Amino acid sequence: MVFGSMARMKGSLIIDNAADAIHSKSGEVIMPEAPDLEVIKDFLNLHVQGQSIESATILRPTVLRSLAGDFPADVQGRTFGAFQRRGKFLLGEISGGRWLVVNPMLTGAFQYCEAKERVQKKTCFTLSLDGDNELRYLDDRQMGMVYYISDDQMDQVPRLHEQGPDVLDGTSFEEFQERLKRFHGEIKGVLTRGAFLSGIGNAYSDEILFAAGLSPFRKARSLSTEEQSRLFQQSRAVVEEAIEVLQERMGNDIHIKIRDFLKVHRKGGQPCPSCGANISQLNANQRITSYCRHCQPGMLIKN
Ligand SMILES: [Zn+2]
Repeated sequence: MVFGSMARMKGSLIIDNAADAIHSKSGEVIMPEAPDLEVIKDFLNLHVQGQSIESATILRPTVLRSLAGDFPADVQGRTFGAFQRRGKFLLGEISGGRWLVVNPMLTGAFQYCEAKERVQKKTCFTLSLDGDNELRYLDDRQMGMVYYISDDQMDQVPRLHEQGPDVLDGTSFEEFQERLKRFHGEIKGVLTRGAFLSGIGNAYSDEILFAAGLSPFRKARSLSTEEQSRLFQQSRAVVEEAIEVLQERMGNDIHIKIRDFLKVHRKGGQPCPSCGANISQLNANQRITSYCRHCQPGMLIKN
């Protein structure tokens, strides 16, 4: 594990705590998770891959960490290669051994639009591309991190390599079971922290646990083989299903997050789509957790 510095590592942990606090206060903050980022990645591969960067303009420098020289000067004239997703990071390859590595955290987002479109206040930087289009990075709370690095600096991106296998990586059930043994605590926390499986956050962990019929408060180690198997299957199925919905609905608006189609997350008080009972919702550890007490049996143990 190689980090730029210990101070940087500590800094990102502090940001994490702050992010949770904000999440609990606002009903509007939607953190991108694997399904959102997967659709954004596909869009960028379709529309931005192969385009050259005519110029870069920095408007709010806080989010940008340029380890490969002066960003606007160095990136000018280079061409975007393929984009990929690893857990909750998006990585864009740029010609000549450069990468743009994005950890959007709470409110980071890409916008792809014509250059003439009004620049939103939360825009941190813009990249002018071929054909009068721009790729913009927006971040309302400026908690995301964008790293501009060269090939050999990938290990300097904090947290990129601490993530577990991606939820869509195709891990076998045996491997899934074996890895799960290493994690303690409530299953929802194990899913959202990203060291067990990456790409899942607060919203999709609720959805996966609902689909698997497991209480979010069950201890990870208490799951039977049959329950583990349901969790294994639903982790992937729920994410894949959401990708299909988002692909249809997001269109060119990759900066918009859509969550209204979810079955339980933030649907507290509404009828459960399976049994009709009221969905329970609580704000535990400063995170909203929504679940059906009937379909996801298990005691909530108050600390
Ligand atoms: Zn139910």
